[in-house]
Amino acid sequence: MVIVMQQGASNQQVDAVIGAVESEGFRAAVNRGEERSVIAVLGVVDSQKVPLTDRFESLDGVERVTLISEPYKLSSRSYRPEGTVVRVRDVEIGGNRVVVIAGPCSVENRTQMLEAAEAARAAGASLLRGGAFKPRTSPYSFQGLGVAGLELLAEAREATGLPVVTEILDPLDLEDVYRFADVFQVGARNMSNFRLLERLGETDKPVLLKRGPSAKLRDMLQAAEYIMKGGNHQVMLCERGVVGFDDACRNTTDINAIPVLKQWSHLPVILDPSHSVGHTRWVPAIARAGMAAGADGLAIEIHPNPPKALSDGGQSLRPEQFLALMEQLRAVARAVGREL
Ligand code: PEP
Ligand code: MN
Repeated sequence: MVIVMQQGASNQQVDAVIGAVESEGFRAAVNRGEERSVIAVLGVVDSQKVPLTDRFESLDGVERVTLISEPYKLSSRSYRPEGTVVRVRDVEIGGNRVVVIAGPCSVENRTQMLEAAEAARAAGASLLRGGAFKPRTSPYSFQGLGVAGLELLAEAREATGLPVVTEILDPLDLEDVYRFADVFQVGARNMSNFRLLERLGETDKPVLLKRGPSAKLRDMLQAAEYIMKGGNHQVMLCERGVVGFDDACRNTTDINAIPVLKQWSHLPVILDPSHSVGHTRWVPAIARAGMAAGADGLAIEIHPNPPKALSDGGQSLRPEQFLALMEQLRAVARAVGREL
């Protein structure tokens, strides 16, 4: 249930509605929007309580009460119709300017990380990515440098001025990752790790939430809800391809997800064409498609020497390929009325 206040409703009226919601045993979350405030009623609204809508609707300052049938509330577009802009240092994600997150799959060593970071900066990326804790399918594959990798990311941030996005695999690493990251990445394999999501909801750093390889969009929005219910509303949704039946590509890019998520939710939507496609040669086409479909940002893997990469070399762009792609993306952004 969402209670939409009238334009110009007073703080006192908003507080009175919150009081009424809480006295019925629900939690209230308020978006004090510029135009009007919206109050999300959190908890299970059973059918016997539906008459409550009439009660809430009769309170002073209330414009309308909407029963949301979806199981997500805080991530729903109706809670924040104006859209969310996530702020990472001086970068804004979710506004008219589209952002590009670029960097290697894994932080491997100092030279590789600094070269990749410089390539990201030189081509005009806004954020730097790099995994220090890697979720690998095989336990015998490179698992990441851990804290040493986080330190290299911090050095790369220092050198380029680009804020850092890095994956957290386990709630046990929270303190370490918090110390170095500007944005927590939750990988596809962890989208439904609800304890991890809840822990991130208690922090004050933005979260890039990647879609599980076979998760429905509604599941993803409920995963976002796990983070947001703790008070952290700085969440970005990342499409990274889903499991399909064809094996030409690593995954199947669900381009549909972009406009659907933009309509269902107020959260910024990012496309990761690299993991979606899994082959360097097709990454640019899908990156352009994502931007044309309305993504607020792209997350792209780059590497100074892809054949030598310890992970995902086969889908990484070399610096000059990335530079060329950024030029194309600027043209697409212009064509759809956005900046890059
Ligand atoms: C990654 O971003 O390097 C990664 C492992 O992605 P995903 O979780 O989408 O597979
Ligand atoms: Mn990767």
